Amino acid sequence: MLVRVRYAPSPTGTLHIGGARTALFNYLFARHTQGAFILRVEDTDRARLVPGSEERMMAGLRQLGLEWDEGPDVGGPYGPYRQSERLERYREAAAALVAAGAAYRCYCTPEELEEQRRARQAQGLPPRYPGTCRALTPEDWERRRGQPYVLRLKVPGEGQTVVDDLIRGRVVFENAVLDDFVIQKADGSPLYNFAVVLDDHDMAITHVIRGEEHLSNTPKQILVARALGFALPQYAHVPMILAPDRSKLSKRHGATAVEEYLEQGILPEALVNYLLLLGWSPVEEREIWDLGEAAAAFSLDRVQKTAAVYDYKKLEWMNGQYLRRVSVARLEEALAPFLARAGVTVEPQPPLAAVVELLRERARTLPELAEQVAYFYQAPATYDPKGVRKHFADPETAARLEGLARRLEAVEPWTRAGIEAAVDAEAAERGLARAALIHPARLAVTGRTVGPGLFELLEVLGRVATVDRLRRTAGNLDAIRSQAVAAAEGGPA
Ligand code: GLU
Repeated sequence: MLVRVRYAPSPTGTLHIGGARTALFNYLFARHTQGAFILRVEDTDRARLVPGSEERMMAGLRQLGLEWDEGPDVGGPYGPYRQSERLERYREAAAALVAAGAAYRCYCTPEELEEQRRARQAQGLPPRYPGTCRALTPEDWERRRGQPYVLRLKVPGEGQTVVDDLIRGRVVFENAVLDDFVIQKADGSPLYNFAVVLDDHDMAITHVIRGEEHLSNTPKQILVARALGFALPQYAHVPMILAPDRSKLSKRHGATAVEEYLEQGILPEALVNYLLLLGWSPVEEREIWDLGEAAAAFSLDRVQKTAAVYDYKKLEWMNGQYLRRVSVARLEEALAPFLARAGVTVEPQPPLAAVVELLRERARTLPELAEQVAYFYQAPATYDPKGVRKHFADPETAARLEGLARRLEAVEPWTRAGIEAAVDAEAAERGLARAALIHPARLAVTGRTVGPGLFELLEVLGRVATVDRLRRTAGNLDAIRSQAVAAAEGGPA
């Protein structure tokens, strides 16, 4: 059997991490089985439609590397893949159910439905459509010609509908809790639980892999499928992603949209890897997986049954792993917008590749990295005030920086070993520990107290800039010190 799965977003916003993970699991399952991964746009609910949302979701999926085999833009043998282009099909199928006596017209007005609901509530009964219009005959319909009606499916009042879920196992629903639900609105448009069954059937979907929030829809979809005489796909409901406090993940927990993460400087590769482990536990215990490796190893029986808890720190850690791992060329490309945003103009010297190679070991996000790249191309305009009070306090500071500059001028060749020897020689001559030169030198050159090892840093920065910055700082110490004092008085620095 050829596996065919689908990701079926409603274009009501942007791609969220829950949706992205659903798409990812579908994608991996398809790749693992050499099946097809289909994108279907569920846009029948015109009121909830957000213009541009479809394009944004597609862009998000593509940024994550989740390319689909069939879909609204690439076509495929079972299209159209937009529900709005299939309305005729839904209407015909609904009409056929009515003709077969499996569905019926309901003329109840919203007021009447509200009245029925209240009456049931007063009797302590759950809110459920009582089947008022079930008994109407085609003659009654004829008499009501011109009145708006919806179509409802006849749901058996007893018995059970069983979902054999590949992740959750057997889940039993009592039909008594379902009612004759609406399959077509008064305007002739289909309801989700109806359209989705026709779509999955017509697109030859074999496995429905989707979020757990849809589990309660599944018995309805099974009833529709049975009424239409369709074979059922297999179902796999993926547990929710919860916030760290185990509540439903929402905006107040920070970013939840894929585009926001990418904006914030998370690499798509890292986000995908993070989402992979949010619910899937590989047999082989390791954290770093690219899409190809994940596809080779993926199986639904390793998807956890319990909710996954979202953890931004872990995502950041993952991003740090990818900042070290991806090629320098890839990193330069990903970094470009962040450098532009930080106002950094990259010069030919030092080469950006060397700078990035040096800094990536410590960074966790792209903006952080961009911010550090900045000091390779700009002499410091300000100096960390705390650092100044600590490392520039000694009255000998200017002489030490100057002495170091003089030695570095003569280092040949300009390598980290040569730089290290010069620092040590200067320290020995002055009877200092090397740290007493390293800290002031770093601050003088970068304006910061933290960063990569000084010798590597200077090697990449280059002789001219190093010597120039040491001298410039040495000549400016009074002003730099008073700035730091002012910062201390202005509040804790
Ligand atoms: N359109 C539904 C949603 O966005 C998905 C339906 C499904 O996967 O069956 O939640």
